[in-house]
Amino acid sequence: MVKKQFAVIGLGRFGSSVATYLAKMGYDVLAVDESEERVQDVAHAVTHAVSADSTDEEALRAIGVRNFDVVVVAIGQDIQASILTTLILKDMGVPYIIVKAQNELHGKVLSKIGADKVVFPERDMGLRVAHHLISPNILEHIELSPEFSIVEMRAPDEMIGKNLKQLDIRAKYNCNVLAVKQGEQMNITPHADEPLAAGDVLVIVGRNDQLIRLEQAYAEA
Ligand code: ATP
Repeated sequence: MVKKQFAVIGLGRFGSSVATYLAKMGYDVLAVDESEERVQDVAHAVTHAVSADSTDEEALRAIGVRNFDVVVVAIGQDIQASILTTLILKDMGVPYIIVKAQNELHGKVLSKIGADKVVFPERDMGLRVAHHLISPNILEHIELSPEFSIVEMRAPDEMIGKNLKQLDIRAKYNCNVLAVKQGEQMNITPHADEPLAAGDVLVIVGRNDQLIRLEQAYAEA
């Protein structure tokens, strides 16, 4: 299998983290930033690191960004540069462009001009921390859409010994238990009669407001 090749433009905290982790996982990574200093900071950790202004189409062509399967645009503060860069990459025909957005409006513009995926790292991390604060039992939170999420919830004491039928999460909270994790084991067809044991983790899908209701109910119980 041919490994995907990645380019990351913008080497702030987010971009440099994406670039160095991809390289650590064995992928070819080209890291680009207009700041020579930022380039030097990651040069030791990635395959290639070059300094260039990504709003300069010629500069992007010269470094061969077109040949990468995925380009991550991680320019945050300078929204204009982020949009221009995305537009140029789209025009060049880069197959998959992921862009970090600063806010919702920035995200909307990026989607309109053809970004394949828009990410909001600060907003998403804020949401995760908020969920964890509401209920320390929430181990993971994955946003499926602005309205729906999947959460991983450690079975709180009040659930232990009870089965899914007794807990009645579907009727009470309109949420679905997709799976129950027991250590390394993932049971994707959890039985309604099986009592939950200490350490079990429930994987639950639902609307955000209903999930929060469920989290609150068990955090306060
Ligand atoms: P962080 O990921 O640290 O939160 P941020 O969202 O605050 O970053 P910035 O620091 O504004 O984003 O930008 C990230 C990087 O993008 C910076 O290192 C900056 O030099 C680089 N950058 C900004 N504009 C361009 C450009 N036109 N071409 C190349 N790199 C750029």
